[in-house]
Amino acid sequence: MERSFTKEVELLKLGAGQTFHGEGILAVTKALLQSGISYVGGYQGAPVSHVMDVLNDARDIMDELGIHIETNASEAGAAAMLGASINYPLRGAVAWKSTVGTNVASDALSNLSSVGVRGGALIVIGEDYGEGASIIQERSHAFAMKSQLWLLDPRPNLPTIVRMVEKGFELSEASNTPVMLELRIRACHVHGAFEAKDNRAPRFSRRNTIENPEFDFARVSLPPATYAQEKHKVEVRWPAAVKFIRENRLNEVFEGPIAELGIICQGGMYNVAVRALQQLGLADAFGISKIPIYVLNVTYPLIPEEVAEFCAGKRAVLMVEEGQPAYLEDALHAVLRRADLQTKVHGKDFLPAAGEYTGEVVLTGVAKWLQTVASPDVDSGSIHRVLVALGATKRRAAELLGGAVPARPPGFCIGCPERPVFSAMKLIERESGAFHISADIGCHTFSTLPPFNIGNTVLGYGLGLASNSGIAPMFGNRTVTIMGDGGFWHNGLTSGIANAVFNKSDGILVIMKNGYTSATGTQNIPSSLHQTEWKSGDMSIERALKGIGVEWIKPVYTYRVSAMAKTLREAMNSAYKGLKVIIADAECQLERQRRIRPQIAAALKAGKRVVRTRFGVDEDVCSGDHSCIRLSGCPSLTIKAASDPLKVDPVAHVNNDCVGCGLCGEVAHAAILCPSFFRADIVQNPNALDRLAARLRNTLIGWLQPVEAGRS
Ligand code: SF4
Ligand code: SF4
Repeated sequence: MERSFTKEVELLKLGAGQTFHGEGILAVTKALLQSGISYVGGYQGAPVSHVMDVLNDARDIMDELGIHIETNASEAGAAAMLGASINYPLRGAVAWKSTVGTNVASDALSNLSSVGVRGGALIVIGEDYGEGASIIQERSHAFAMKSQLWLLDPRPNLPTIVRMVEKGFELSEASNTPVMLELRIRACHVHGAFEAKDNRAPRFSRRNTIENPEFDFARVSLPPATYAQEKHKVEVRWPAAVKFIRENRLNEVFEGPIAELGIICQGGMYNVAVRALQQLGLADAFGISKIPIYVLNVTYPLIPEEVAEFCAGKRAVLMVEEGQPAYLEDALHAVLRRADLQTKVHGKDFLPAAGEYTGEVVLTGVAKWLQTVASPDVDSGSIHRVLVALGATKRRAAELLGGAVPARPPGFCIGCPERPVFSAMKLIERESGAFHISADIGCHTFSTLPPFNIGNTVLGYGLGLASNSGIAPMFGNRTVTIMGDGGFWHNGLTSGIANAVFNKSDGILVIMKNGYTSATGTQNIPSSLHQTEWKSGDMSIERALKGIGVEWIKPVYTYRVSAMAKTLREAMNSAYKGLKVIIADAECQLERQRRIRPQIAAALKAGKRVVRTRFGVDEDVCSGDHSCIRLSGCPSLTIKAASDPLKVDPVAHVNNDCVGCGLCGEVAHAAILCPSFFRADIVQNPNALDRLAARLRNTLIGWLQPVEAGRS
């Protein structure tokens, strides 16, 4: 990983009496160090990659405290790492993106939660829910309920987030149960401040090791111990958790004068709920609300007594619960019924059942709820005016935009090395017709979007080849599978490739070897070219493939579109029966640019000759049919109005963002398109030879120009 987090690491060194200023996710990292953890692990994924990124760069702090840090190969590995807290008083934390990562980790989580923990175990999950999310829209809440793990959902402000991390470990130890800390994207990126404490060295660590291993069959997940563990969960651990949460006031009540109403919200929804009340004139700029609010910083388990106390004497409450199913709202009904309270419960009848609770969604829902419950203390006229103004603003915005705002789905970066593979597939499709492509998770999933629309199915990270195993035998022609190198190491090597070799699959697999898990922020993987001294630098995809019996392996430099198309053709028509693997090899362009930019700047500063390659389109030659755009999809390859009045269609144009990867020229060549692409080498700090060549060229062009001018 080339990105450095030196600035963030400095914040981790703050001690008692100092104030931390920064982002929510970095506050979590600092809180882990303040909590005396012995070990930390995780698998990268938005929005919590930062935990691992920063701690990996904070080796001096980790070494000083004796904390072990591990970059796990998958979320399953990270969850299994928490096994260190089962027998020993070791505090540990792991992080991943949920719900995808929690799906992967769920086997280990079931075992862990069944046997329980001695040392505090905290799972930091990035709840990537909402319209900016890159994953399936599901909730981690279901995992908490299924395995009886406690779920913290802190109010997005830094002191609360930090307190929840610290209390999360205590809760875990008080109830012998692992705890999940759920952070939405907004909570991770919220900025604020908190009073720092000194980092705490753990009792047992790499510096102070355990001497005697402990064995206790009651802590092994094997019958008959599992039956006792289930009883222990509900009879001992759950009540202990409820007691701890209540006694330590992990949930918060903000009283308000309009006592007949109340809002109950997930902690993560607090900011957006208060903002809605502010806009409706029912809260001030500091968040002091006229309507009482019960904030669930712990969304599982619920504390029935607290819920009943908050609702007692209220005519109606609104549950602000993002996502579905409405676990909390349904539980609220049950709690009130058992307590024989007649408070009317609202929630999904005013707020959408599914989708992200943005500021606008919550404002509209809260306003409509207030109109319906019609309290004498709430000015319904002003509520109506806010709703009318909101509608007017939206209508005006639509008018100014001349219609709906076009969707802007994500896409490959400029110069991405994965794009040429799909250009080659488009060319093959022209010859042979469409073929089934089993896609995978990673940047390469963008191939399913225009202009490629390549990839018929996506089943999960590293599962491309496994998902092809039922498809391939059903087609007369060979099908193709895509897998990234991140997915390969995550589980594709076993669930896909070992499975295919074992079952004598005749499929074609393209492995995108760009060197990083790019989509999560370009973290290193086992086969990354440059590793730090803490990681093995000797793991290769090719050797792993050979080791499990793959015989047909062809590496191709991705930017050579013709070579890629030729290799794909060969794989499709080969007489070889067995798995055929094409390794599409070229470094992630985003990471490459990050890596070379400082090198170029240093070379320029030192007065060294630097050559920058750019591509362009000769608009006199461009016919304006835009095949090049349809086949390359590079955002830098765009259109502009033709200066020739006889050309009606706009011509292709390469803008200044071009990184000079050469794909557009390659595509023009491989697809036998028009010869309008040119390559220009921009020489900075030219040497004497460059200057001489430039003078000669200028002279030659100078001779030709008057002739041209005279003719015109
Ligand atoms: S991050 Fe790298 S691999 Fe991903 S789209 Fe950008 S250039 Fe391609
Ligand atoms: S060379 Fe072509 S494909 Fe590559 S970045 Fe420039 S415009 Fe895009």
